[in-house]
Amino acid sequence: LLYNQVQDLKGTIRVYCRVRPFLPGGLDGQSTVDYIGENGNIMIVNPHKQGKDARRVFTFNKVFGTNVTQQQIYIDTQPLIRSVLDGYNVCIFAYGQTGSGKTYTMSGPDLTREETWGVNYRALQDLFQISKARLDFIEYEVGVQMIEIYNEQVRDLLVIDGSNRRLDIRNNSQLNGLNVPDASLVPVKCTQDVLDLMRIGQRNRAVGATALNERSSRSHSVLTVHIRGKELHTGSILKGCLHLVDLAGSERVDKSEAVGERLKEAQHINRSLSALGDVISALAQKSTHIPYRNSKLTQVLQDSLGGQAKTLMFVHINPEANAVGETISTLKFAERVA
Ligand code: ADP
Ligand code: MG
Repeated sequence: LLYNQVQDLKGTIRVYCRVRPFLPGGLDGQSTVDYIGENGNIMIVNPHKQGKDARRVFTFNKVFGTNVTQQQIYIDTQPLIRSVLDGYNVCIFAYGQTGSGKTYTMSGPDLTREETWGVNYRALQDLFQISKARLDFIEYEVGVQMIEIYNEQVRDLLVIDGSNRRLDIRNNSQLNGLNVPDASLVPVKCTQDVLDLMRIGQRNRAVGATALNERSSRSHSVLTVHIRGKELHTGSILKGCLHLVDLAGSERVDKSEAVGERLKEAQHINRSLSALGDVISALAQKSTHIPYRNSKLTQVLQDSLGGQAKTLMFVHINPEANAVGETISTLKFAERVA
């Protein structure tokens, strides 16, 4: 392929860990992150334990400390974005407990301040910029879908009329090759178009929820960018897609406390996150059977997990002492897929 800049990336699954800083006005106290080493090591200290049981080292492709900027986070993601324009499928996930910084990494805290933009906007800006630079050779079309998976039901976040129809997943669909062919596919020409769509998506996500934060922490949101390029000299077509996934909060829910809707939600989340973990670790181990069918999330992403596709997972941790249990289970999950 032309312009392939990703040959140097070893393997197709990478895991990056990001540590959220202590927040102003939040809890004070000792960080559970004891140190971050050069080679992707992070040591966690558990304040509730003594002696050598209190410390544990985890290893990932990279670990980003609390002082790392949005731009620095993005630099390591950029080669994957370029590869989408070369015809690869790419999935980028944000994993972690609620409040650990998933949305901060993917979207950013403040759309009006460009320096705080997350991976989503930077990726789209790059897609448009690179495709413009290639205009003499390849003509690109870009289209966006945005869906939410809540309680194992798929919904379109880009419907204008706010209708909350459940959508079907059709793998290997003949229709445009889309896995969710009935979700709105909106053509976009520039980053501003995408910003406008994101606002619609955010608004639709809030429908039926008591509070936006509540709902967004219990559903997966998937922003998919489809690109279709026509090589002008040969007429050949290449297709790639980029999935940007802000996962539901990974915190375990105390079974004795959760009842009714809350318990059902928690079970759906647990099941789909473990299904995702199972798929990625089966891929990492080059297993012959990849269990895509176990959740809607892995079915939606099936064509973009495994094969030639590339996966990046950002795992987020909250360094506060009261989060240490979730921090350790998050890092164990991440270690399993790395
Ligand atoms: P999640 O999406 O995982 O629930 P958020 O992204 O909403 O978590 O982050 C929770 C809070 O922490 C927000 O107020 C957010 O602005 C802040 N935050 C998260 N990550 C960072 C970071 N790297 N730097 C500064 N503030 C952060
Ligand atoms: Mg969030």
